[in-house]
Amino acid sequence: MPDKASGRVRITDIGPPNYEDFLPDIIKRNYGKWKYHDYIKPGVMFHVSESGEKLYTVRVGSIRLLSSDTVRTIADLADKYCKGHVRFTTRNNIEFLLDSDENIDNLIEDVNETLGFPVGGVKKCIANIVHTQGWLHCHTSASDASGVVKSLMDELYDYFITEQLPAKVRIGFACCLNMCGSVGAADISIVGIHRRPPHVLVDRVNDLCEIPSVVSACPVDAIKPARTEDGKPTVEIDEDRCVFCGNCYSVCPALPIADPLNDGLAIFVGGKISNARMKPTFSKLAIPFIPNNPPRWPEVIDAVKTILDAYKEGAKPLERVGEWIERIGWPKFFRITGFEFTKYHIDDFRLGECTMNYSNHVTL
Ligand code: SF4
Ligand code: SF4
Repeated sequence: MPDKASGRVRITDIGPPNYEDFLPDIIKRNYGKWKYHDYIKPGVMFHVSESGEKLYTVRVGSIRLLSSDTVRTIADLADKYCKGHVRFTTRNNIEFLLDSDENIDNLIEDVNETLGFPVGGVKKCIANIVHTQGWLHCHTSASDASGVVKSLMDELYDYFITEQLPAKVRIGFACCLNMCGSVGAADISIVGIHRRPPHVLVDRVNDLCEIPSVVSACPVDAIKPARTEDGKPTVEIDEDRCVFCGNCYSVCPALPIADPLNDGLAIFVGGKISNARMKPTFSKLAIPFIPNNPPRWPEVIDAVKTILDAYKEGAKPLERVGEWIERIGWPKFFRITGFEFTKYHIDDFRLGECTMNYSNHVTL
């Protein structure tokens, strides 16, 4: 709550402050009373309330890992144009919220000059790619989030600043199967995958790890306690059971999983969380493995561009990637993209059965 004497919001160390304290006045006045929204140009939209008030949003693509200087510049712009209000979307877009359209062009000019970030990502565009930590921060990563996403967005830049697609396309990136990025339901999901079990540093497990925690960290019971030749406690991994998730490495640094030859990326397509036209859907596997190829990952970029070109060519207006594929049929999707359909596309994990098609209704 704002402090009565100073009017400032008090920040404590106990939990996050109530988000309502940070809402712009126009949102507080019209909370729950928004009638509709519309678009002015790529990156700029407005919401209209029952009272007739309009809230303008300017969406700016960010690089996600921001320096404190950049955050200060963003805050200065928010002070100058938006009475201090700015927000970050779940896809790391920066959104400036204005209560009039007077300053939109000045704000965009200032953003270009001071931040050098593009304005766009709204409507039939590709928004910022939501992504995870990658080699920079996370021990479990099978690929580099920032590297792949930067390479990809350099190529897809025009799709951010102009409307060229049948509908919005959301791309997600997670650097391992833990999927911290929202890849489960993105139109195009890129997921880092390991293909070998962790390497057990047999002599170090007892010094570095709590063995019962390591054993219980495995979701498929692939780890069991064992003994070294000289009788020290350690663990062993059943390679046939391991699904290369990396959970055990999170609790035990003596089980490193990174493997330069066998780590790489998989691409999934067709997920979405909106319930317009079709129910929310998980993404499905399109390409089971692409080797890591830093610093620009050209094979990943080619694959994503192939999907986008086919989608642009074949989808009806407002049809999302998954809706388009369901309409034309998965066999045709593989045919027109040229992606090979392999045994790895068949879901044979626990409960995989419930994802299979039991009817003879197949679109070829
Ligand atoms: S997706 Fe995996 S590797 Fe990437 S940040 Fe999350 S846990 Fe770490
Ligand atoms: S990587 Fe995952 S599945 Fe494999 S042993 Fe470790 S916890 Fe188990």
